[in-house]
Amino acid sequence: MAETPQEPGHETLSNLLQESRRFPPPADLAADANVRADAYETAAADRLGFWEEQAGRLQWERPWDNVLEWEPPFAKWFTGGTLNAAVNCVDRHVEAGSGDKVAYHWEGEPGDTRTITYAQLKDMVCQAANALLELGVTKGDRVAIYMPMIPETVVAMLACARIGAPHMVVFGGFSVDALGSRIDDSDAKVVITADGGYRRGKPSALKASVDAAVQDRPGVRHVLVVRRTGQDVEWTEGRDVWWHDAVERQSTSHEAEAHDAEHPLYIMYTSGTTAKPKGILHTTGGYLAQVSYTHWAVFDLKPETDVFWTAADIGWVTGHSYIVYGPLSNGATSVMYEGTPDTPHKGRFWEIVQKYGVTIAYMAPTAIRTFMKWGEDVPAQYDLSSLRVLGSVGEPINPEAYTWYRKNIGGDRTPVVDTWWQTETGAIMVSPLPGVTEGKPGAAMRPIPGITADVVDDQARSVPDGGGGFIVVRDPWPAMLRGIWGDPERYKETYWSRFEGLYFPGDGAKRDADGDIWLLGRVDDVMLVSGHNISTTEVESALVSHPKVAEAAVTGATDPVTGQAIVAFVILRGEVGEGGEGLVKELRDHVGTSLGPIAKPRQIMVVPELPKTRSGKIMRRLLRDVAENRSLGDVSTLTDSSVMDIIAEKLPGAK
Ligand code: ATP
Ligand code: MG
Repeated sequence: MAETPQEPGHETLSNLLQESRRFPPPADLAADANVRADAYETAAADRLGFWEEQAGRLQWERPWDNVLEWEPPFAKWFTGGTLNAAVNCVDRHVEAGSGDKVAYHWEGEPGDTRTITYAQLKDMVCQAANALLELGVTKGDRVAIYMPMIPETVVAMLACARIGAPHMVVFGGFSVDALGSRIDDSDAKVVITADGGYRRGKPSALKASVDAAVQDRPGVRHVLVVRRTGQDVEWTEGRDVWWHDAVERQSTSHEAEAHDAEHPLYIMYTSGTTAKPKGILHTTGGYLAQVSYTHWAVFDLKPETDVFWTAADIGWVTGHSYIVYGPLSNGATSVMYEGTPDTPHKGRFWEIVQKYGVTIAYMAPTAIRTFMKWGEDVPAQYDLSSLRVLGSVGEPINPEAYTWYRKNIGGDRTPVVDTWWQTETGAIMVSPLPGVTEGKPGAAMRPIPGITADVVDDQARSVPDGGGGFIVVRDPWPAMLRGIWGDPERYKETYWSRFEGLYFPGDGAKRDADGDIWLLGRVDDVMLVSGHNISTTEVESALVSHPKVAEAAVTGATDPVTGQAIVAFVILRGEVGEGGEGLVKELRDHVGTSLGPIAKPRQIMVVPELPKTRSGKIMRRLLRDVAENRSLGDVSTLTDSSVMDIIAEKLPGAK
């Protein structure tokens, strides 16, 4: 065991929250489940054999020689094998006779819709691939994609994959600087964008941001622009090209080359909640095998009958793996929605579920808490009986949000799968299986078959049932990141230096008395109050369990007496109003009763909004800046930077 740095307060993590509600898998789902309980043992008995079998879900041009080549911490999966990701996602389904099957029911925010079949998608991808080649893109070149949530975004990604040009999708809500620094870091040659997209009822501009970002970046040779809103755009002759000119006149056939299993598929930058964003590199064969398997296993996907909807942005890894590569590799029918959940009204998501008969829905806890805030009468107006599995991703789901989701969206019948994973893991790692695992509100439960995640203490010892520590992964997995783009040292340092030979994701976790895993949020977010470790997640969940609270964010602020003091920001449920002094006391007492007096926040502030990333993660480091009266750190990855002004305005003393 290597020397690990002793960060005070990280030796143990608290284990305060008690949650005893249990939801067994529904009998009919269990009887017909894709994955049975024995999958865990089968996979454990022959892990590489198990993943080989999953790779067999894909169409390979040439089979692999070795399942895994592991030179820690660098892994190569399915070496010697060749395949094309776009062919796996599109062509092979058309060839198998499913060309008329719907790949996407697309819903624009203003209410316009498009239905894209697999055959149409194949034609569009081939045309875009031909256009990229014409623009001089060659295998290995990086292509930036800065788009709204429209079908062309998927087409652009698959066209890149098809010709072997790694894509680098930047969330359309990011600033010029965020886009520019990612273009620099990945050295992208072409940017694919749109004039704009619809958000919150009006067209937002994208092309203008690209213009500003590429102005001083001559490395970008072309900007390919989809017309989505029809708004006016500036035009640079020679550099800018309309999609409808360059793509739509191309041939719908394109002979796809099979790429090496380890050929780079994409770079995706992390959210930057804890540090400067890292360019996470994913490759082709292993990534596709694991996203395909997890999409099928964790959601119990029945490709013939299910309508699957990940309500997330493609500019987040969840969109890559579970709007694009997972569902398409499985030949599924998905819903794709362009806009926000409250445009033009707060029932928009449920209207979409009802309209398309969505059977599986996957979203972030932040969205669920927003729906809680709006109240249960909103979903009650829609027929949600088509739903059979619900998923959550992005943050620990508070037990209260879980049960609200299950009851008000899932009709008290659907399992909720709380899926833990990261940009770096590429695909789901720890999650219940809906036909096998009992549901416990707030718990991600067990590593999926084939994954060896564990909870260890600061000496890398596996903790006993009832213990707390850090989540780690023991063995390489197919969809794991292959590194940080251009920075192998940072890769080793960030993920492989804390515990020798173990992958360290940076999250705290606990194992309950049954041996099931609960995620406790970032290790960086753990607070040390009077010598006790308290996780922000647990205090937040305690606050959210109060009937008047919809959403809470907690941070530790330096305190002369206690070392760190707990400062909480809360959003109240719709019907409650402003709050006031009485409510603050009520909430402090409520936390005291739920978790113990030590966890009582020093300060509770009622706010209208919280600072969030594109995936809805709360940026606690910014709240810490507010709580400690400091000027704000990097805000470039906030979805809406005006939120910080609104919060500051509400808080006398805060800048
Ligand atoms: P950065 O690393 O730059 O701070 P990020 O970690 O926010 O960015 P992502 O890769 O999107 O970017 O997020 C992964 C993180 O999200 C995990 O490490 C974990 O903290 C959290 N997370 C995701 N799913 C869950 C879940 N089901 N339960 C608890 N935490 C989750
Ligand atoms: Mg991270």
